[in-house]
Amino acid sequence: MKYMYDVLVIGGGAAGLTASGIAANFGAKTMMVEKEKLGGDCTWTGCVPSKTLIKAASVLHNAAESKKYGLDIDLGNVDTSKIMKHVDQVRREVYEDADKPEIFEAMGIDVEAGEASFVDIHRVKIVNGKGLEREITAKYIFICSGAKAFVPPIIGVDEVEILTNESMFEINKLPEKLVIVGAGPIGTEMAQSFNRLGSEVHVLDMAHRIQMNDDEELADMLLESLKKEGIHYNLGVGVDKLEKTEKGIRVYYKTGEVQSSIEANSVLMATGRRANISSLNLEAAGIKTWKGGIEVDDKCRTSVSNIYAIGDVTGRFQFTHMSEHMAKVAATNALIKVPMKIDVNHVPWVTYTEPELGHVGSTEKQLKERGVSFEVYRFPFSKIDRAITDGQTTGLIKVFAKKWNGKILGASILGAHAGEMISQYALAMKNGVTLRNFADTIHPYPSYGQGARRAADQWYIKNQSAGMVKWIQRIFGYSGDIPDYSDPNRIV
Ligand SMILES: Cc1cc2nc3c(=O)[nH]c(=O)nc-3n(C[C@H](O)[C@H](O)[C@H](O)COP(=O)(O)OP(=O)(O)OC[C@H]3O[C@@H](n4cnc5c(N)ncnc54)[C@H](O)[C@@H]3O)c2cc1C
Repeated sequence: MKYMYDVLVIGGGAAGLTASGIAANFGAKTMMVEKEKLGGDCTWTGCVPSKTLIKAASVLHNAAESKKYGLDIDLGNVDTSKIMKHVDQVRREVYEDADKPEIFEAMGIDVEAGEASFVDIHRVKIVNGKGLEREITAKYIFICSGAKAFVPPIIGVDEVEILTNESMFEINKLPEKLVIVGAGPIGTEMAQSFNRLGSEVHVLDMAHRIQMNDDEELADMLLESLKKEGIHYNLGVGVDKLEKTEKGIRVYYKTGEVQSSIEANSVLMATGRRANISSLNLEAAGIKTWKGGIEVDDKCRTSVSNIYAIGDVTGRFQFTHMSEHMAKVAATNALIKVPMKIDVNHVPWVTYTEPELGHVGSTEKQLKERGVSFEVYRFPFSKIDRAITDGQTTGLIKVFAKKWNGKILGASILGAHAGEMISQYALAMKNGVTLRNFADTIHPYPSYGQGARRAADQWYIKNQSAGMVKWIQRIFGYSGDIPDYSDPNRIV
């Protein structure tokens, strides 16, 4: 059969943009269809606006803390509409720089506006905003339709106006009192930002801790730090009803059998994300789904051999960098038949609070559950000179590695610039760089990277023993004291 395109990409977010670019680079005749705006969640309602808001809130917070640095800055007024205007300007900049159709058209990609749905395994119907319909055939189809905020079916949820990531960057007035339901990355980042901008923030979550996918010790440290900033946490509670009031919304929640409520001006639901699959007519092509999205194998292939799914729509690893990675995996397998698998062992992620919380590889909990033998190499930010000069000493580096050869199995970091530091560990793990190599590599002083090196020094320290030093003394004739090795967790 002759197809109109080699590749049809459905969705123009991080996954679709990357997949289209790679396909065009391989010389495939490519069409990308997007029903809203190229850029998707990351540019318009996710990473870019959230990180811009976090920065604005951080500037304000640091100015408010200026006395700590020997300064006394007058804060003036906070105008939410100006902040949101700035947020919008930044996302437009990102769009102009990396996402707009002209950039992709220049690569030879046909960019089509409209909503796509399957007719069969090679045929897709596209309906544009004016209701015009056309059918496209393609040899390969990449589904990159993303995900959107999941709002649980709580009583009264349809009668009140709640905020989600789609609406929270469009507000013009800061809510005096904000309830955030969900203490995962989005809820946690936004709790800190809105609190710093001046809202009274209350976070509710069913779980008894925040940041369920992160290291528990570090998440607890972050929680303490956020509480100190003034954010109120109510954990281990189930929100079961929302009710419209004169001031805003009353949120009802249960702790065991005890019912309580809290009234707020706004409620932000940060309760997870669900794949955008309802409009795709997947049944027409026989594409299987699993809990949370489209089922794919480790090459991003769906249950239909010429159709791949990439990014948030798969319900796995909902991060921009994973959309980009999966796009590479799918395009490489489909178009040049080079087998490449999703690298599930080295997936990094970061929550961009202050301090940041980052992770890569296996968690301490996973390693324990699997019965892996490993050591934890710890180094606190309070001993990193750069953190001291910056006044950012809250945090801890934890590296999980093999004792005998220093092979790194995972790393969790809470602290300033954890998001940058975690990349070092990702690169190290991917390329077999051990803690010994880390420790023997010169890192500039005073940098946060020195903290990573000193965490690696702990590998040498933990492998030393009084017996070993006695041998050195005997061989070289030294007569100093034997260091005290009685505390296995001492930090040197
Ligand atoms: C508040 C927030 C903060 C975040 N922060 C980070 C972060 O700091 N770091 C990080 O890595 N990730 C972050 N994420 C996650 C990140 O935004 C997503 O993982 C990423 O955008 C997923 O890209 P995607 O291409 O799979 O989906 P999307 O970006 O959602 O793109 C899908 C596109 O497909 C289009 N589409 C859907 N259905 C159809 C159809 N039938 N026809 C045509 N087009 C269709 C949609 O309009 C959309 O543009 C954040 C998310 C949120 C909500």
